[in-house]
Amino acid sequence: MKPLNIVLITVDCLRADVLTRLQKHGLADGAHIAKLAEKGTRFTNAVTVAQSTAPSLVSILTSSYPKTHKVLMNGLSLDKATGPTLPEVLRSHGYKTSGVISAEHLSSPFGINRGFTSYANNSPFDMVYYFLTKFSIAGKQLSYILNVIRERFNIFKTAWTDADKITKRAKRLLKKHHHSPFFLWVHYFDTHQYASEQEYDQKIKYVDMHVGYLLDYLKKLDKLQETLVVFTADHGEAFNEHGHPKHGWCLYDEVLKVPLILYSQSRLSAGEVANQVRSIDIAPTILDMAGLPIPLKWEGKSLLGHINGKTKDDLVVKVISTSGRVNIQCIRDGRWKLLRYPQEEQLFNILEDKDERKNVIAENAQVANRLRKDLMDTFDFEASEELVDESVKRRLRSLGYFDESL
Ligand SMILES: [Zn+2]
Repeated sequence: MKPLNIVLITVDCLRADVLTRLQKHGLADGAHIAKLAEKGTRFTNAVTVAQSTAPSLVSILTSSYPKTHKVLMNGLSLDKATGPTLPEVLRSHGYKTSGVISAEHLSSPFGINRGFTSYANNSPFDMVYYFLTKFSIAGKQLSYILNVIRERFNIFKTAWTDADKITKRAKRLLKKHHHSPFFLWVHYFDTHQYASEQEYDQKIKYVDMHVGYLLDYLKKLDKLQETLVVFTADHGEAFNEHGHPKHGWCLYDEVLKVPLILYSQSRLSAGEVANQVRSIDIAPTILDMAGLPIPLKWEGKSLLGHINGKTKDDLVVKVISTSGRVNIQCIRDGRWKLLRYPQEEQLFNILEDKDERKNVIAENAQVANRLRKDLMDTFDFEASEELVDESVKRRLRSLGYFDESL
């Protein structure tokens, strides 16, 4: 059998209801994401293990929880002891590994480029900025000065890159590497930047168009047949369902649930998996499909059993808030979801109450006790509150991560 090429497409802030949203615009029939979902394996209960960008994407690439890889917030670096990463494993088996990223906090100084043969950073200024921040941590405050210049003169605004450039970079890397087995990771950021829900939907249409361009290019290179396309998001996005906008303030399902589609012309038939699966399960599934051994240290599981119908279990997920704004912990199995705040707990029966409206903790104390114990085995309550230095926060403010209006 020919080696399986892999293209991992991640889209920032893309909600699990992406297909319904495309339908709303009369676009679902022709939409590229809808076509992938129709012809591939679609997971209807996929959840992220972290609700912010870098922690979540590093979890996907390392098949480990933020507690393990230490990127507990945007702006922190991948722990050197964690690994191997997915690109490291693939590279050791002869793959050309490329990454194309669109946000400053995924740039190579944070160690997220580990294992990539080629890594297209968001912008060369990311490096400059990163090192200035390092100086700032040493007390020189250079990043503060740079930030002032940036705001005052509207220059060095390099926090994110438009899909148009990202797709071009991805195509260039595919052209360069497609003669060997290849792994390409592409992260689109456009859906993070919107002023209204309507504009958010327009951004989905825009990213969908770019997914189409990538798939067309794979076809043009005659590589689509032997390529596994994995489509997912780093986290969802809230539109005030529970009184919060964006994704930094809560761990309700509008933020935790993500789309997940696996598409391969040669290896997968169309299907749907309704069991709960997690973002850390993506990398082991990729290796399993490529016929490569899964590192023992990885915390996720291959989903091949779910895909071929042999496995029917819901994989329990434990999430700790990684936005730096709130202190919340969550455990979610296929039926129940427990949320722990410093002063309060909430329990939802997510099978009967999908919108998480009715806190049923009083009448299900035993369930809550069991879940709490399981959660506390993993997390103590100090969480990530004080882990990030003010200067790192300043640097990330340009992305809107610490903007009080969010
Ligand atoms: Zn994100």
